[in-house]
Amino acid sequence: MSLLIEHLEFALTVDAADTVIRDAAIVVDGDRIADIGPTADVLRRHDRNRFERVIDGSRHGITPGFIDSHVHLSETLSRAVFPDDLDTRTWVFLWAKPFYAHVNAEDEHVGALLGCAEMLRSGTTCLLDMGAQNDPAGTVRAIEQSGIRGITGRHAADNRPASPPPGWSEEMMRHHFFPGPDAALAALEETFERWHNAAHGRIRCWINIEGKEPCTLALHVGARDLAEKHGVGTTYHLATSIEEARISQSKHGVWPVQRLAEAGGLGSNLVIAHGVAINPHERQLLQAHDTKIAFCPGTSLKLAKGATSIGGYPELLDAGVTISLGTDGVSASGNLSLMRQMYLVAGLFKDARNDPAIIGARKALRMATIDGARALLWDDALGSLEIGKKADFVLFDLDHIEWTPYADPVQALVWSASPASIAETWVDGRMVYGDGKLQQIDERALYREARLRAVAITERAGLTGKSIPTSTSLYE
Ligand SMILES: [Zn+2]
Repeated sequence: MSLLIEHLEFALTVDAADTVIRDAAIVVDGDRIADIGPTADVLRRHDRNRFERVIDGSRHGITPGFIDSHVHLSETLSRAVFPDDLDTRTWVFLWAKPFYAHVNAEDEHVGALLGCAEMLRSGTTCLLDMGAQNDPAGTVRAIEQSGIRGITGRHAADNRPASPPPGWSEEMMRHHFFPGPDAALAALEETFERWHNAAHGRIRCWINIEGKEPCTLALHVGARDLAEKHGVGTTYHLATSIEEARISQSKHGVWPVQRLAEAGGLGSNLVIAHGVAINPHERQLLQAHDTKIAFCPGTSLKLAKGATSIGGYPELLDAGVTISLGTDGVSASGNLSLMRQMYLVAGLFKDARNDPAIIGARKALRMATIDGARALLWDDALGSLEIGKKADFVLFDLDHIEWTPYADPVQALVWSASPASIAETWVDGRMVYGDGKLQQIDERALYREARLRAVAITERAGLTGKSIPTSTSLYE
């Protein structure tokens, strides 16, 4: 089906020159962008009467769909369950892990669907999911049903702690840890073969692992090698806190990224989630190997990761490292809105370094779109509004308080707008969010079910908060 959206007030193409088109038109043919430019030029190239549908885009602006390069779809039922005064390792080991150990397959599907719903409502059209706790069938089904695009996988770990912390059962340990890297990689390869290119290619499957202490070095290295063999990527958590770096220093004599580099684990198909504790030498290693970083500003704020105090994100950008944005799980950051991450990254470092020229709106938009596409190894088809790319985009309602008035649309998008002024979200040439609702999901029924399941999981996991320690020395 071919359609024309004409007289859009602006189009932020995020092409190589950051071209902004005024009075723009876009032609969508099937799932692709067939043309884009000023309305007058596009109408000179096409016979307006031959379109199956013509949409008046007046008082609307268009941007590429946002790309979330680090999310845990399976964690969406844990919103605001854990306290907000925990450090990263306590949060992960004593709260998150017991919670997820009690998430069953149908919980996981409901949580993933809920996550996709929030993302589409926030303008996110493509995601890199860390992976399901077990087989990703439920996650794949959720991505397919919701209409979003994404990469998923299966969560894997292979390094059991010497003694399990409170809340960890033997059943959970069996469920969570493979006996070694070979067993984990065999399961990941099977998962890849089963799910890669599902939903006519809208879903891809990567060789993802959990990363850091719960995984052996061999699994980190092996995951990237296996991904390379299959022409895909891998993503995992690494250098996520200064405590992790300190423990690595005392146990191995080097910080996590250098340790990985020395084992041959870096490469252009690796996306490191967080990467907050990275020293200047490691920055050069990442640049040399074109390894990407998925920065999650919301999680840094909530879990006190020190993004601005110890994080070298502006210096990584200066070194030429690709940094994309992620929301992380909903319990880590509180929400799945990439627009909020874009706002945070635009300003965090200006303030921390007392320098108004760091990052800003234009770069933040690139990080939320084309740089995300690059991290996901999908920039040939996603991340910008250019002829031949997939028709994944967001239409903003400019007759909205957030846009009244505005002059520079890039600044207004990043500093003023929120998902509240999103009119429509399109994926693969189809409107999947519009008229105030998701087009393919019964949201009210989903919300009801999600609430019931969240309470049940919290009870099953025993996370009442009464007897759970507030610090941990696990893996030290
Ligand atoms: Zn994460």
